[in-house]
Formats: sequence, structure tokens, C-alpha cells
Amino acid sequence: MATRTHDKPYDVYRALQDAILVRCPKCGGEARLTLQKKEGQSEYFMRYDCMECFAREEKSRHYKNYHAANTCDGCGRYYRVDLPVARVRRKIISRAVFHRGKLELMTEKAHYKTLRVACPHCGKKMNGEVRWTETAIIAGEEIQDGHDTVFGLPLYFLSHFDSHPVWALNREHLTFLIGYISADLREGCGAGAFLPKFMKMAKNRNGILKVLQKMQKG
Ligand SMILES: [Zn+2]
Ligand SMILES: [Zn+2]
Repeated sequence: MATRTHDKPYDVYRALQDAILVRCPKCGGEARLTLQKKEGQSEYFMRYDCMECFAREEKSRHYKNYHAANTCDGCGRYYRVDLPVARVRRKIISRAVFHRGKLELMTEKAHYKTLRVACPHCGKKMNGEVRWTETAIIAGEEIQDGHDTVFGLPLYFLSHFDSHPVWALNREHLTFLIGYISADLREGCGAGAFLPKFMKMAKNRNGILKVLQKMQKG
């Protein structure tokens, strides 16, 4: 449908041409996440710059893949079980900060050293040591569950609907999503393939739209 101007896909690459907005880990304020490259070097890295307290940090575009490995004390075989980040990550509330008159809890992320997993050979459950390998981030993997994968910072526009994270990469993306979902409600056609599955489900759209509009008002 060429007449629908809001139909252009909006992805992380387009957002990175400007900046992805994340929450500053120091003050809870608005920070710009950008893709950078040093003069004469081929490797890209990510950097966040807080617009409010001027905190800044640089990191290479690599993230960790977790797994638990152990020798099973049931069957004696070596096993390796892949672990999703959500299972490994442990949130620790470190402090509360005031941001624009609102109290925000800043969480610090830590990782479990061991986790209870089932041996894939015999099913016996035991503690496995959590290990990881580092992988370079490839296209579209910069965001997971509303957090950036380089620093693990929550997106600035992040809320929840039905326990699902609802997020936008920046203000332009937020405006885009609101326009997109509004048009879907109006015209009754299926949303684009780039939206998460739960956002595509017709029954959720009204609720998600309200969450997005609330974020836009701040
Ligand atoms: Zn800050
Ligand atoms: Zn076993």
C-alpha cells in the first residue's frame, strides 16, 4: 500500500543513524546510545552519553551467550545447556534516584554463578556452572526485551502491556509506532512483520496504543 506513508519499516539501523534513547545508569535520565568508529579504525563500538548528568561510556559491540556446563553426577556425561539472558541475569536494586520529580529505582545487573539445570541426557537436575562466550552483535540484535545488548540499559521509552515489554527506540520511532498502530485500528489491516508478535495481535492493539501514547506524553 504505497499511500500509507507510515508503512516504511523502522528498525534499529535507522534509529542508530540518529540515536537510540536509553536510561542513564547513573542518574536515570535520558541518554543517547550511538554507534561510533574511531578515525582510521575499522571496528565499530557503542557509546552512551547522558544528556542530563553527562555520564559517558564506550563499549565494543559484543555480547555474552550464556550456558551451564557440568559433568552430570547422575549419568557421568558432560553436558552443556544454553541459558537465556533472562534466566542468568539477577536484578539488584541498588538505589533510588529522583528524576524529573519522580522516584526511579535504578537496578544493577549481576549474574548467577551457578544455576539449577536438568542434564539433557538423563534429566537429573543439579547445579551447573554458568559460563559464557562472547559474540559480536549482528543486525537487529541490539535490543532484547527492551534493553540494549551492549550495556544492558533499559530503553528510555519502555513500559509494559500484559507483562510484555512495549518499547520505542527513540521519539521518532515512538511517533512511528503510534501512527502505525492507529492506522491498523482504523483500517483493520495486519501490522507489519517487524513488530513483535504480541503487538501484531489485534486484541492487544488498543491497549498497546494507550501505553505508547502515555509514554509520548511523559
Ligand atoms: Zn545521567
Ligand atoms: Zn545425566
